[in-house]
Amino acid sequence: MNSVGNLFLYLRASYGIYNVLKRMVYVMGYGYIGQMDPTYILVIIGIVITLAASARVKTTFSKYSRIHSMSGYTGAQVAERLLYDAGIFDVRVERVPGNLSDHYDPRSKTLRLSEPVYGQSSLAAIGVAAHECGHAMQHQHSYVPLKLRSSLVPVANIGSMAAWPIIILGVVLSWNSFLIGLGIILFSIAVLFQIVTLPVEFNASRRAIVKLGETGILQQQELKQSKKVLDAAALTYVAAAAATILQLLRLLMMFGGGRNRD
Ligand SMILES: [Zn+2]
Repeated sequence: MNSVGNLFLYLRASYGIYNVLKRMVYVMGYGYIGQMDPTYILVIIGIVITLAASARVKTTFSKYSRIHSMSGYTGAQVAERLLYDAGIFDVRVERVPGNLSDHYDPRSKTLRLSEPVYGQSSLAAIGVAAHECGHAMQHQHSYVPLKLRSSLVPVANIGSMAAWPIIILGVVLSWNSFLIGLGIILFSIAVLFQIVTLPVEFNASRRAIVKLGETGILQQQELKQSKKVLDAAALTYVAAAAATILQLLRLLMMFGGGRNRD
């Protein structure tokens, strides 16, 4: 009798776990077990365009890394020169490990250039270094999209990390609509961040090309080639934004109509 009771409890617990797993599997994109959720195609499209953009920037960067500028300036020298030219004297230029890890940190006022940019005088290196200077110039001029983007960073970080766990928890807890709604709002903040990033990135590249031309660091033909590297880099931000928009669209399709499965 006792063992029958135990078996019953065991079966009930297993069924509970089975249900929870089934709901998790659904949210992760597989529909019911063995049946693919058709909205998952949006996630796959996002992954494909992100990978394509990232492959493109790598090949473009490597192509123009082999073409040296006539002026012979290295990425670091270009950065120092453009910052000086713009009247920015409180930004440090540092070397940072990695590939395409270049960035401007507005909090510490540091411009970090990766190994292949810092010491190289290629058209790719000069373009990237000038682009990061573009961000420092945006900071100097309190460029509104940059300020908006900086203020969104902490919320967007929390949003993108917490959104999925909260949505999954909401689904597991019998489609708790408050939790699912909260998760979607958090995810939307991450989407907004990606969208605000676009004008910031395009504008930094525009400033870079203008300054490289004005200072004569690059010649007209070189400017066009350097711009190709920056355009390819900008495309990765467009792809990232598109991928997160597609994911949001999928979330809305899955949960927009309330409880539609299970
Ligand atoms: Zn940038």
